[in-house]
Amino acid sequence: MIPNECPCCDNGVIAPYRLVATGETVLVCNECDSVWGSAEELPCPALTTVDRFLATRGRPPLWSELDAAA
Ligand SMILES: [Zn+2]
Repeated sequence: MIPNECPCCDNGVIAPYRLVATGETVLVCNECDSVWGSAEELPCPALTTVDRFLATRGRPPLWSELDAAA
């Protein structure tokens, strides 16, 4: 089960997203842009952010790169 409250900020909601370019599924906070690769551990601060996650994969830092996953 995925907790949907972000451990790093007060208002964020965590949801699974798929990176369109690679098909990778990650968990993203919609408020502070934290990105986690696994639902089992949600350390704070997160290992990466949306901008850095996309940059390390050669993608532009746009939410349109991410698709809401089921
Ligand atoms: Zn957050």
